[in-house]
Amino acid sequence: MGIAMNLEENVNLISDTLTANGIKLWEGAELLLARLSERLLAANELVNLTSIDTPEGVALMHFADSLTLLPYLNPGETLLDVGSGAGFPALPVAIAMPEVRVTALDATQKKVTFAADAAHELGLRNFSALCGRAEDLGAGPPYRERYDVVTARAVGRLNVLCELCLPFVRVGGRFIAMKSISAAEEIEQARHALTETGGEIAENITLTLRGGEEDLTRVLIIIQKVAPTPKIYPRRYSQITKNPL
Ligand code: SAH
Repeated sequence: MGIAMNLEENVNLISDTLTANGIKLWEGAELLLARLSERLLAANELVNLTSIDTPEGVALMHFADSLTLLPYLNPGETLLDVGSGAGFPALPVAIAMPEVRVTALDATQKKVTFAADAAHELGLRNFSALCGRAEDLGAGPPYRERYDVVTARAVGRLNVLCELCLPFVRVGGRFIAMKSISAAEEIEQARHALTETGGEIAENITLTLRGGEEDLTRVLIIIQKVAPTPKIYPRRYSQITKNPL
């Protein structure tokens, strides 16, 4: 079918893909997702935003995958999505949960611009986008220890993510790392990083993403922020990656 799929067909595709994964949204949300999908695929022809380039891929790998977060979010919470790229998981979450205030952060301006423009066109009032580096914005006000929930998908290994993401989480809030199969090994490797940055693993949820050629395994690692992150973190990016906690 490819990119020529019309809006109604795309709504049906998205609806079927979400249903296959047990995801139920408010009426009208799937139309917004279909419009987002069209916009993403069209923009992606001009600027490289994502490697996923079919409506089927967007429905499964961007929408259903992003929306695996829904059972772990509560209305009224603030959420920061670190390394959001073109807006994943931030945009689908903002569409699905209008009561969650979502901020997408990415270092690449063209991706942030796409997400902000798309949200504006879809009329999302609970979404904002920030261009910057997590290690800079997480260092102090107004973003440090400020969010109820921080998410990250496909941004780095868990030990690196602890240092980049936990500074943004308020004590008592949580960081949800979205992972595929390498989770167990990453958790082992992140023990020290977790202790250093004030995190504690609360839950480790393994999910199956259905509707593609084969079932895909996903893991949500839910990390509770139990203590403030010491001021020395986050360090400079070169330090974080060359000498990870
Ligand atoms: N979360 C999106 C994008 C993943 S690609 C998705 O799953 O589709 C990783 C993104 O993280 C890139 O867009 C990159 O610009 C961003 N990124 C990596 N390190 C970052 C940092 N230190 N601060 C801000 N953004 C970062």
